[in-house]
Amino acid sequence: MSRASNFPPPFSARDYVAEPTDPADERIEVGVLIVGAGPAGLACAIRLGQLLEESPETAEKLGDVPVAVLEKGKQPGSHLLSGAVVNPRALQRLFRNRVRMDELPSYGQVPGESVYVLTRRAALPIPPPPPMQNHGNWIFSLSQLGRFLGEQAEAGGAMILPETSAEQLLVSHGRVLGVRTGDKGRNREGGELGNFEPGSDLVAKVTVLAEGTQGHLTGVALDRFDLRGSDPQVWELAVKEVWKVAKPLDRVIHTMGWPLRTGKKFREFGGSFIYPMGDDMVTIGLVVGLDYRDASLSVHDLLQELKTHPKIKKILAGGERVEWGAKTIPSGGFHALPQRLHAPGLLLCGDGVGMVNVPRLKGIHYAIESGRLAAEAAFRALQRGETPSSALSSYDDAVRDSFIWSDLHEVRNMRQVFGRGFFVGGALASAMTISKGRVELGKMPAEPDADQPLLVTDRDKSYPAPDGKLTFDKLSSVFASGNKTRDDQPNHIRIERRVPLEVAQLWAHMCPAQVYEVGQADDDGTVLVELAPSNCVQCGAITAKGGRLTPPEGGSGPEYSVS
Ligand SMILES: Cc1cc2nc3c(=O)[nH]c(=O)nc-3n(C[C@H](O)[C@H](O)[C@H](O)COP(=O)(O)OP(=O)(O)OC[C@H]3O[C@@H](n4cnc5c(N)ncnc54)[C@H](O)[C@@H]3O)c2cc1C
Ligand code: SF4
Repeated sequence: MSRASNFPPPFSARDYVAEPTDPADERIEVGVLIVGAGPAGLACAIRLGQLLEESPETAEKLGDVPVAVLEKGKQPGSHLLSGAVVNPRALQRLFRNRVRMDELPSYGQVPGESVYVLTRRAALPIPPPPPMQNHGNWIFSLSQLGRFLGEQAEAGGAMILPETSAEQLLVSHGRVLGVRTGDKGRNREGGELGNFEPGSDLVAKVTVLAEGTQGHLTGVALDRFDLRGSDPQVWELAVKEVWKVAKPLDRVIHTMGWPLRTGKKFREFGGSFIYPMGDDMVTIGLVVGLDYRDASLSVHDLLQELKTHPKIKKILAGGERVEWGAKTIPSGGFHALPQRLHAPGLLLCGDGVGMVNVPRLKGIHYAIESGRLAAEAAFRALQRGETPSSALSSYDDAVRDSFIWSDLHEVRNMRQVFGRGFFVGGALASAMTISKGRVELGKMPAEPDADQPLLVTDRDKSYPAPDGKLTFDKLSSVFASGNKTRDDQPNHIRIERRVPLEVAQLWAHMCPAQVYEVGQADDDGTVLVELAPSNCVQCGAITAKGGRLTPPEGGSGPEYSVS
């Protein structure tokens, strides 16, 4: 049986670690450099703004640009996609006495909730298990919240640099000095076009990586500084749509079961979420663990199938799809957290290091809290005029003392138990939740997603045909993501191009954006994988399943506005 991990991509983390190359007087110098304008990075920028306002002498020491935030999307929010039902805890701490929850761009508090176990035709309501209880949480669009947080960060003095990918980690004498940004205006072969702009060295006293799921430089830093945790990281792939609907939805809904198969051999772990967004919109998404084994499984098409269920069709009746998107969620949990969250000159936050509570499908408040704690650690070190390695270790201590650590410890084996199948996994997960993590299941083995031996079924034959109203094909979905990536830019996806048929089928079905096609077969039994990289919405699934995503030219990719 083939495994995607037997065909590693032509990628080496070492190629993305470099000394600065721009002459010293041409480097862009900033105080704290934050990579990623997501909840983690923007919370970090906002908290630094608050602290520097109270300490002008520290701000003075940081030069003309005390805080800068790099974002590869067109603007903060362009690449943000989530549920998003948010635990308000971290936002309240971040904005204490400054901004009230009802002043944030939300869709209000969760009005009520239901959980169903689905079969093809029926929906069996069950009492919401503790992880799916959302009383007191607030509903947002993360891309809208990202734009708001971006404005708050700028108002506090941060400089946001959109359309800019951080491509290389600048390291000198074992210390992170900043990042080099990617070139712009190259053609497919790498040649310079008329509008070519070379990347720049951005150097900082402290660099904070808040890149979110499958963070490119975060992965590079974990290898460079030997920080990886005891378990390998694993991921889920989520595909979601936002719909304008005729009738308001009055509660948040989670489903389990169909269209996923419960058999242990398939390893299909996941479920759906359907959240109201005010009176006339809902968001619907399907989340599936990427340790699944069937090469014909497509989360994009399973979501299309889910919408044909009578219960769900009714919610969407008379409505219209307004946006589509896809993204991975790190799900390795507590045991996959890095051994340390800092290295000399460097701090790591949010989804990039896997701060997600999988059974609760929550990561936004951990991202915000970790960004805030990173800001405080960086500020303390800078105020004292020190940035050696030990100065930033107070960030690790602060995270270990925070609710991020205790919450993730409570559900530490949650993802692994589902490897034992839906029913046994469900029973063990309930035991862990009810006991608040005190039931000791021992440390369960975890394997990288790409190590799962593949099987091929005819699952793809039963996906519904796209009708352009309720169900859609992948290319129209890419269009609905707002993706306008330039077709002739260099390929940013690293894969082994010649692989066994089942590996090529795995990638072709898995990719929600139709980037891969199974090409010509060779005499040795392998096939060529054809690529359309400009379709890519940067969900990150390929990195989990045997390839490696690198950041494309800044400003490429989706343009999410209500996701
Ligand atoms: C479908 C789905 C549903 C979810 N539902 C919920 C929910 O209901 N509640 C909840 O709390 N959590 C939910 N989550 C998880 C939550 O969205 C994440 O935990 C959270 O967004 C993590 O924040 P972050 O700032 O770490 O990363 P992100 O939100 O991913 O932000 C990272 C930012 O960094 C930028 N970036 C990355 N690399 C680079 C680079 N090299 N150069 C420049 N810019 C870069 C990205 O473009 C992005 O803007 C969900 C996730 C998904 C995918
Ligand atoms: S090619 Fe892009 S969209 Fe497709 S799976 Fe990989 S990261 Fe996701």
